[in-house]
Amino acid sequence: MSRRGRDPRHDVLLEPVTIGPKTLRNRFFAVPHSNGFGSHKPESQARFRGTKAEGGWAAVCVEISSIDPESDRNPVPTPARLWDDDDVARLALVCEDVHAHEALAGIELWHSGAHADLSPGRLPPGGPSQLPSDAYPLTYPRELRREEIGWIVALYAAAARRARDAGFDIVYVYGAHGYLPTQFLSPFYNRRSDEYGGSLENRARFWLEALAAVREAVGGDCAVAVRIGLDPAGRAGVALDDASAFIRLADPLVDLWDVNTSVIAEPWLDMRPSRLAPQGFQLEWVARVREATAKPIVGVGRFTSPDTMADAVRSGVLDLIGCARPSIADPFLPRKVEEGRVDEIRECIGCNVCLMRVLVADHIACTQNATAGEEYRRGWSPERFEPAANADRDVLVVGAGVAGMECAIVLGKRDFRRVHLVEAGEDVGGYAAFAASLPGLSEWGRLVDWRQSELARLRNVEVLTGLELDARGVREYGAEIVILATGARWVQDGTSHVTHDPVPGWDQPHVLTPERVLAGEGADGRKAVVYDCEGYFAGVGVAEQLATIGVQVVLVTPHPVVAPTLDRTFEGWPTRRRLEQVGVEARTETLLARIEPDGCVLDRYGRVEWIAADVVVLATSRRSRDALHLALLADLQSSALEGVEAVYAIGDCVAPRLLADCIFDGHRLAREIDTPDPATPLPVRREQTVR
Ligand code: SF4
Repeated sequence: MSRRGRDPRHDVLLEPVTIGPKTLRNRFFAVPHSNGFGSHKPESQARFRGTKAEGGWAAVCVEISSIDPESDRNPVPTPARLWDDDDVARLALVCEDVHAHEALAGIELWHSGAHADLSPGRLPPGGPSQLPSDAYPLTYPRELRREEIGWIVALYAAAARRARDAGFDIVYVYGAHGYLPTQFLSPFYNRRSDEYGGSLENRARFWLEALAAVREAVGGDCAVAVRIGLDPAGRAGVALDDASAFIRLADPLVDLWDVNTSVIAEPWLDMRPSRLAPQGFQLEWVARVREATAKPIVGVGRFTSPDTMADAVRSGVLDLIGCARPSIADPFLPRKVEEGRVDEIRECIGCNVCLMRVLVADHIACTQNATAGEEYRRGWSPERFEPAANADRDVLVVGAGVAGMECAIVLGKRDFRRVHLVEAGEDVGGYAAFAASLPGLSEWGRLVDWRQSELARLRNVEVLTGLELDARGVREYGAEIVILATGARWVQDGTSHVTHDPVPGWDQPHVLTPERVLAGEGADGRKAVVYDCEGYFAGVGVAEQLATIGVQVVLVTPHPVVAPTLDRTFEGWPTRRRLEQVGVEARTETLLARIEPDGCVLDRYGRVEWIAADVVVLATSRRSRDALHLALLADLQSSALEGVEAVYAIGDCVAPRLLADCIFDGHRLAREIDTPDPATPLPVRREQTVR
């Protein structure tokens, strides 16, 4: 039912699509992606995927699911597994939750082939030829013998039967990102001279045999899908001509084609961050294989705009709109389109922190959506909020960065009588607004934009800017609950994780912080040294900013590579290439030993060097702006805060951290503001095997 009237241009997105024996109720397709839950955390997996189904996705896939112990690659992110009946029982929970919302459940049968470097059997992996893995150079596969190829085909069939028994509707023979089917198809991996190597028909033979076996195994119970990854450079993946020829060969065995651009050693080709490509970035490549099949095609490209999605369908390139990240940032995106609430879509910002968290913590999180990954362990839904037991109190949130904004939104949705969000500056957004003003990160402004529009919809929340409150101002404000979200600032003195001490010479007029550079200082410099110790987006952003206005920049960093944290978000290589393009010179594994009036003394393994600089930027560390919080806590303890029941702090004000964690912190406090001790997170539910 449309609440405001759906835009008729979006009607095409709500049309049903048939894939083999199954029909999707609309064109929204939540494609495979890791979340760290695999099949070992089945409740977390089920609630995570089920939330997307509830949000209107017609199909919801899990992640790559290994068909055999020897097909696994790395333990993190932990993939799903379809090795035995226990896995069937676990993954059946996903199907139940997805089916409960009339969506189809998809699973990706996966064999890592030459990249399977850490399998429990500790065997060398098997691949078409003995060539080192391009992703893990110390991993050498053994060349698979013909009978072993037959065994692997049989493993696909057995896993397909398990997938069907678990209740899955769509079974993939997954080849994208350089996995085993691609390794056979691509001459980059396949140097065989038998019937599985050489001509395209021979190189396609393994994938075709696996498809035929899977098709026979599932009978008419499941749709059979293929994910194939195009390699735009035609080097390590499937070249365009081979892809089109393979699609024609395999088409009778396939109900759905899932086409992306992917190569295992260049992961940013598929999961491109917003600094690298706008939404729809894969369409031009998918379009090139469109004429090879009349079967439905699903494709991705970080789609968040229903207009762009509808255009992709109308152009004939895509039949189904594939989304991974946009479905994490807003699991209810399809429903919002259906109900004409497109202005409420929480658009993915393309930061890839979801990936970082899966790689580092084996547990997904999202910058935009604080509830991602918390569906089971905290029982959160992005769209459901309970009235608070203490909703009759007035709440004052001091600081309208994204933590404060998120907190105020959730408090508003929990029916608090009155919430005031007060900001000392003229604009809201805090550190997120700072980030969004760096080169290439404008989409990060969606963090602020979405929250502004949500706040504007909440009648019980008032936002006041340009109002700086001190302890007395807070006392006189009259709120019963006070929440400090006053953020953090870059240290001026160069204190970093390396020395925990100031850099000698920091207190000179030409020594700036990143904030001061973005405010316009340093633009008249000729030579700048940017000292980046944090190793994430700020140091490289400031360096690029200065270089693009003609300043000669040397980026000095103690890290072994420039901005190593960006490698966890697939932004590292593109960012370093960009710096090279704009002329930034990098000095890695180098310390800034001293700042002088006209230059800097650098130290690399004890070798000292002086370089000229008339501007020095210290992106070394941040420090909380917690003075007001500490003063109010002291007042509270001495009973000087009459009428104030509680004082809390959230986000960077407590300790500088990722924007994702700041937003989460504001969200969590508001979700738990009526618990006995809101400052301490409630325990989370765990999934553990007893024996
Ligand atoms: Fe998008 Fe960033 Fe959320 Fe990933 S973490 S879904 S890239 S907003």
